[in-house]
Amino acid sequence: MAEQTPPMPGSKVPCRKCGKPIIWATTTAGNHIPIDAQPDPAGNQAVFKDVTGTVRTAQLRAGDQPEGWQRRGMPHFPATTCTAPPEPPPRPAPTGPDAWVMTFADHERLLAETAAEQAGWAQRPSGRSEQEGQR
Ligand SMILES: [Zn+2]
Repeated sequence: MAEQTPPMPGSKVPCRKCGKPIIWATTTAGNHIPIDAQPDPAGNQAVFKDVTGTVRTAQLRAGDQPEGWQRRGMPHFPATTCTAPPEPPPRPAPTGPDAWVMTFADHERLLAETAAEQAGWAQRPSGRSEQEGQR
């Protein structure tokens, strides 16, 4: 019978690029990094939940073993386990005498992108601006 590996602390979310389940953890430097939701014996992160409930991770050096209250995890990046397809290459810049004139199609696309960006701002949680407003 295989030993059951306890799951990672924190809530699983799908990676926005490849859809694999990940968790977000705060590093000792204060950065947020994605980590595979499935503990990985090859990982170099010691993942745990601190007393405040924050999911944290600490880098394991070669030979280090995670403590009993930590889970060994693999950072989820394209260089490790993220299988998202590579970004499409940027379109070549137009050349020629009219290269600086925006085409109608490009103008429509720019308007759509701007609208999508503004919709994203509207949906963004406003916790930070609320904190600033209370000063
Ligand atoms: Zn991914």
